[in-house]
Amino acid sequence: MPLVNMQDMLDHAYHNGYAVGGFDLVSLDFLEAIMAAGEAQRSPLIISLAESHFEYYDFELAMAAAEQAAKRSSIPVAIHLDHGASFESAVKAINLGCNGVMVDASHEAFEGNVAMTKNIVGMAHACGIPVEGELGYVAGVEGEDAEKHPGEVIYTSVEEAKAYVDQTSVDLLAVSIGTVHGRMQGEPVLDFERLQQINEALKIPLVIHGGTGLSDEQFSKLIENGVAKINYYTALADAAGKRMRDNVAADDRCGYTGIVNGIQNAMRAEIERCMVNWGSAGQADAVLAVADAWQPVHHVIIYNVNIDDANKVNNMMREGERTLSQIPGVRRVITGNAVQKDANYQLCWLIEFVHKNVIGSYREHPDHVAFADNLFRPIAGDRISIDYSENYYPGYLGSE
Ligand SMILES: [Zn+2]
Repeated sequence: MPLVNMQDMLDHAYHNGYAVGGFDLVSLDFLEAIMAAGEAQRSPLIISLAESHFEYYDFELAMAAAEQAAKRSSIPVAIHLDHGASFESAVKAINLGCNGVMVDASHEAFEGNVAMTKNIVGMAHACGIPVEGELGYVAGVEGEDAEKHPGEVIYTSVEEAKAYVDQTSVDLLAVSIGTVHGRMQGEPVLDFERLQQINEALKIPLVIHGGTGLSDEQFSKLIENGVAKINYYTALADAAGKRMRDNVAADDRCGYTGIVNGIQNAMRAEIERCMVNWGSAGQADAVLAVADAWQPVHHVIIYNVNIDDANKVNNMMREGERTLSQIPGVRRVITGNAVQKDANYQLCWLIEFVHKNVIGSYREHPDHVAFADNLFRPIAGDRISIDYSENYYPGYLGSE
């Protein structure tokens, strides 16, 4: 049960004085390196997919791989949308399997940031999913030299942080206290006093973006002051890049597999170093003991129709697949006919929700209400439905 509720994971880190890495991937090599490092160090981890990187890979394909990697692992894992740019991207990420989302509206003025964040928090909480907001502005672009993207660093103020969290109900806050995205010249100067005040005012897990280039001592002080999640990418991309340049230098005629040979190990070494330094190494079992497993719920309906018009029934089913699958928290919608022509019930829906909270938010969603009232219920008089999770409780049947 290695996919776990991200809030439970980060609360454990926050209350036990360590930080979990949110490692961004841009290819399968990154994913395999992240998972191997976590297994070797028995560390909880967050697989992070940044919307700003979607030009480098297919988000939907990467999500399938990330989810599979998490499901087969023995360590607690969460899958997070990093720097989500809109309400629509947050819904898409959730429906593809992310169980944490970040809203990046930090480029907006305070009111605009609050409005967009609040909207996404309402939707995500109805799906049981925590939201990371950002206040202040961490300049730069992941994986590039920071001086190429000078934009002014805007520090998060304590008063604004308090107002922002109160008004939006975000669960995690990314703060700007002097780090930048990407590579930095010289050692960054961090405002720990500001961080301490923010932590005392909010008492929620804090997040640092732009972790590359900080010293071990700086990380320790960040964690002492409430940082429970550290986003980390540039150092991994650099480790992979160096290995690729070395491979080409050793054999300038090498092909693809020759060029990428060894990059997983290079990234894995850096990730393991971080896990040890940030204190998440060795915490996997403690997190598994307290974190809720991330379990989908299946909403199943079997039914018969009271009309004899196959076209109308087919149109109803197609329209249902189209509209219901867009509702936040719906992973997939499957509809079909019984194989046996003499079965008591001839038709079926199987709708997968990301979390049990979706049972209620789906039922009340206007698109579901309209579909059920106008197209489904009028012709499906005889029906049975059940919402079930994949947990199996031996006690229920009185066996074992
Ligand atoms: Zn970031």
